[in-house]
Amino acid sequence: MPYLTGFEKKAAPPGLNEALDKLQKLLGPRFSTAEADRILGGKDFWPLTSIWFMEGKIASLPDAIVWPESADETAAIIKIAREYKVPVIPFGEGSGVLGGITAVNGGIVIDMKRMNRIIEIDEESLLVTVETGINGEILERKLQEKGFTLRHTPQSVRCSTLGGWISCRAAGQFSTKYGKIEDMLTALTVVLPDGSIFRSTIAPRSAAGPRIDQLFLGAEGTLGVVTQAVLKIHRRPEKQIRRSFTFATVEDALQAVREMLQNNVKPAVVRIYDANETRMHFPDLEAAQDKLMLVLVIEGAALLADAESQLAQICCEKYQAVDCGPEPVEHWFQSRFNISISSHLIQNGLVFDTMEVAAPWSKIAPLYHGVIKALKEVPGTISAGGHFSHVYHDGACLYLSVAGAPDAAARETYYHQIWDAALKTTMDMGGTCSHHHGVGLNRGRFMQQELGEAGFSLLKAVKKALDPDNIMNPGKIGLGGE
Ligand SMILES: Cc1cc2nc3c(=O)[nH]c(=O)nc-3n(C[C@H](O)[C@H](O)[C@H](O)COP(=O)(O)OP(=O)(O)OC[C@H]3O[C@@H](n4cnc5c(N)ncnc54)[C@H](O)[C@@H]3O)c2cc1C
Repeated sequence: MPYLTGFEKKAAPPGLNEALDKLQKLLGPRFSTAEADRILGGKDFWPLTSIWFMEGKIASLPDAIVWPESADETAAIIKIAREYKVPVIPFGEGSGVLGGITAVNGGIVIDMKRMNRIIEIDEESLLVTVETGINGEILERKLQEKGFTLRHTPQSVRCSTLGGWISCRAAGQFSTKYGKIEDMLTALTVVLPDGSIFRSTIAPRSAAGPRIDQLFLGAEGTLGVVTQAVLKIHRRPEKQIRRSFTFATVEDALQAVREMLQNNVKPAVVRIYDANETRMHFPDLEAAQDKLMLVLVIEGAALLADAESQLAQICCEKYQAVDCGPEPVEHWFQSRFNISISSHLIQNGLVFDTMEVAAPWSKIAPLYHGVIKALKEVPGTISAGGHFSHVYHDGACLYLSVAGAPDAAARETYYHQIWDAALKTTMDMGGTCSHHHGVGLNRGRFMQQELGEAGFSLLKAVKKALDPDNIMNPGKIGLGGE
């Protein structure tokens, strides 16, 4: 039984069946109304929907699912959907964690997986042109076969697509040196809600007015379907150095890393685990107990990597860090895709989720203490901790993990309470409510505070102008299901 808190599914549009007939004629076997396909296309990794799933409730059932093979075919699908005012929901691999693909008003899921071709590698400019339905791991493997790398490795790299990354502004584990997906993106192709196709110019920089292609970064399918992208790639690094240090306080660890970044030392991987997470990830390391672990991966040309490693050490020693050698980093490499704990907790009736927020350096340490305190104060919380997983010249991302054991009947209420506690505290203390997972359904209620009244009105005006019938992924990024 489709089930979705907060949204009454509207009556199907009167022309739905006619639209589905036309789509079937257009796509043949690449169109399906089979229940199994619709169930798979109606759920992502949003933990709340996993809790519902355990209770036998399905978040949503779209009316059909389609698999286009080109931008032109995607445009034809959208023109049919627009004619009959049927919602369309772009779908990568459903690894989003906020309900972004939930079909709140039913409609057609556009599964992008058949658009997975690498079109061109420009070896001189170090650019790859690629369709957005490609799986992350496959893209990286194909680039590596030719001696290149994208260096975008979210923990979900094996179960997510390029289109999902662009649409959610994803961040990979090597982001401190190579950037988030938005830093890697040079150009894109988007099918707009009227079925026209926008292709942005491939140029390293441009001053030809505002960058309208940026509108589609983080739009989560609400403004169009991203079908192709041009991304910066890299030659594989000559040298990689793995280092780890422990610190006595959050403040010391953050200061050391801030000084690295502001002195232009850019390790590829920077992760500072708080004492709670250090205990969990490095239980056998005596020197790490009750301390914070900093994991660094420094890479690039050998000369530069050696110099960066020395400078990083100087920054750490200034804050009395203890050098723990490369072993904790080896351990991190081995366990970095392991998510078994979270699945295990939910299957055992607990509530578990992660939240990623960000703030400037001047605010990040107090924000860490404030948010952890707020989470622990929610009745039912049994554990709250975090790590700083992506760092910049001007600030850092704080990635929180929280687990609770409320009464079975209160699981959903508790779930909303922890999100309210963490995100309201974050925004009140000067941070942004999302660093890289995006908004989906779950964060929609925070968008007005995040953007302010004028900013939120601007977002709504852009949506109205591009998609007056609200067919593109309704209900997401705070834009309401109406
Ligand atoms: C175990 C796990 C680990 C994760 N680790 C990370 C991490 O390290 N870093 C990180 O950033 N995220 C992470 N995520 C979150 C998730 O993987 C990302 O949000 C990812 O970008 C989603 O990609 P997807 O292809 O699965 O998109 P989906 O979940 O299918 O879709 C996400 C949103 O994008 C829209 N969309 C998808 N494709 C297109 C397109 N072509 N055009 C327009 N809109 C589109 C959808 O409509 C939806 O709104 C993790 C998730 C899990 C489950």
